[in-house]
Amino acid sequence: MNIREFSDYLLKLYQEMSLTFSSYQNSTGLHCPPECGKCCLKPNIEATVFEMIPMALRIVDEGLVEEWLEKLENDTTGICLNFVPIGEDGKGRCGHYQERPSVCRMFGVAGYHNKRREVNLSICKHLKSLYPDPLDPTGAPVMANWSSQMGAIDPRLIQEFKPINEALKLALQRVIFYAEYQITLTEN
Ligand code: SF4
Ligand code: SF4
Repeated sequence: MNIREFSDYLLKLYQEMSLTFSSYQNSTGLHCPPECGKCCLKPNIEATVFEMIPMALRIVDEGLVEEWLEKLENDTTGICLNFVPIGEDGKGRCGHYQERPSVCRMFGVAGYHNKRREVNLSICKHLKSLYPDPLDPTGAPVMANWSSQMGAIDPRLIQEFKPINEALKLALQRVIFYAEYQITLTEN
């Protein structure tokens, strides 16, 4: 599989993931306020290098590699550099929404297994404050199940999480390397 095929394959899973999590969120009535970007402003968001490959390829296609590498090298905030603020109060949008990694698709309202393997709900703090009533977790999509599907494509998709800006920088370097040598993803 070459890097473009890998990216396309992953993007298909990403789309399915987004649809599943957003449909569940809609079914609970816990809607994110318009242009809310509070979760993107957290400085500790992590992703793996491999799950940032679709975004890195998009940056290559946009001809913005040098600009992005410089921004990523010089970042001191730790806040995702894809975040595009709109006005104040943490409002904004994702500059690479179609290519965002899994954490950005599952965050909001999602299921996880407790020690007894029961499904519990993880709800973003902001949503909890807006909708304080408890929710029945039945039918919630479970994050670990989706991570396993990613791992089935390539285990490196769910290994070695790094701060999101660092993961994007390393993904960009990897994409440039593959483009230069025209090798398949499994060769390195
Ligand atoms: S990639 Fe996009 S959605 Fe994810 S944290 Fe960054 S700005 Fe937010
Ligand atoms: S998940 Fe929470 S912080 Fe993120 S956009 Fe929705 S309401 Fe805002």
